[in-house]
This record gives sequence, C-alpha cells and structure tokens, in this order.
Amino acid sequence: MICFQCQQNALPVTESESTLGRRAALGKTLLAASCGVVGWSASFSPASGFTNTVVDDLSPKLALDKLYEGNRRFAAGMPLAENRDMTRVRELAEGQRPFAAFLGCADSRVPIEIVFDQGFGDLFVTRIAGNVASSENIGSLEFGTQVLGARVLYVLGHTECGAVRATMQGNEVPGQISGLFQHIRPAVRTAGGDVNLAVKNNVQNQARLLAEASPVIARLVRQGDLIIAGGVYDLKTGIVSAINVEV
Ligand SMILES: [Zn+2]
Repeated sequence: MICFQCQQNALPVTESESTLGRRAALGKTLLAASCGVVGWSASFSPASGFTNTVVDDLSPKLALDKLYEGNRRFAAGMPLAENRDMTRVRELAEGQRPFAAFLGCADSRVPIEIVFDQGFGDLFVTRIAGNVASSENIGSLEFGTQVLGARVLYVLGHTECGAVRATMQGNEVPGQISGLFQHIRPAVRTAGGDVNLAVKNNVQNQARLLAEASPVIARLVRQGDLIIAGGVYDLKTGIVSAINVEV
C-alpha cells in the first residue's frame, strides 16, 4: 500500500487479510514510519491509543441518519455543536476516524461541518466548485472511505449553485474556471434551463460517477460497508433535502 500523500510504501494488506473483514484488515494498514503524513499515518495505528467506538459500531444507515439529525438540529437553530473544543482537538491529534466523507461545493455559504452540526474529526470533506468528482477528489474520497473507514459517502449540492449556473449560461470566464463546466454539462442538458433541477441532476451524476470510476468505492458499497447518498442544501432554509441516487 502506498501512502496517499507522500507516496511512500506502507506495509501491505495481504489477500488473506481481506478475508478477515475490512475492519480487521484496516487495523493492519500501518503506514511506514518514515511517512511525513503524521495525522493520517496514525489513524489506524494500535499504538495511537485513539479509538472511536461510536464510529466502529455505526452502520452506514445509522451514519446517514446521524447526518440528517444533525442537519435538522442546525436548521431548527438548535445545534449541539459537539466535538468543537480543545479536548476533542487533542484527542484527534493521535488519529482520525470520520464517520462520513463528503463531496461538496466550495461555496462559502455551505460549510459542511456546520450544516450537519458535526465537529472536529467527524467528517472527511472534499470541496470543489460544483461538487464535481474529479480524479483528485475521487482519490481523496477513496482514502476517507477505504482507509479511514467513513460509512457514508455524501454528495452535497446546493440551491443556486454558481458553478452550475455558469455552466448553464456558457459565457466566457477567466482562467481555468471553464475546466469545471465539462463535468457539470450533462446535468445542465437535461434541466431545461432550471438551475435547481440541474443542481439535483448534478448530484445524481457525480454520485454515480464516484461508484463507476472507483472500484475501491464500488467494492465498499457492494460489501455493505458504505452507502453513497446525496442531497441539496437550501441556502434560504438551511435544510438538506435528500436525493435518490442510484449507484
Ligand atoms: Zn456551488
């Protein structure tokens, strides 16, 4: 196995270990001592002393419920805002076990931990304008699910997404912004000029892409270790509405 960031070799997970079950195998995924990615390399080290039994016991379905419960608290103006103190920060210095991984839009109005009322170490988040599944994002999400053990892979779009609207308008834009358009265009084609319908289509497309482009993610789903889910965050109400994603 190769370290996700520094590309150095780590101890391999053998074929026989795969029969021990994913959790057991992951526990043996110790990255090489020379790896510079200290936080991640320690994530599954027995020596780290960090265990999160809540995550270990959480099924994908319960993990998804936990997200929606958090969003309901947030949207109702009654967040618990747990896991946001220095005790939690210090605890996590030894490793991380996020229960959900995200592909979300970079929009400043959609801070994912806040929207789902979660704290440090709870969510493994990748954000990019238009929440598009680029190869780099897919690689990050493979790490968040396969290595760190997230039980939900959630694609989150939001109403009035600027990236989706820009794709729809097709105007000339500076720099490399237009590089995003190719990923969003299929969702726009079937939306009939409705931005929010295109946002919804885009969430479904990107969720499907995650499963199709990544054998790692597809296998986790097939084994029942991971759910791919999707939704749209409403900028006005703070509510995340679930979208049926078929993967
Ligand atoms: Zn957006």
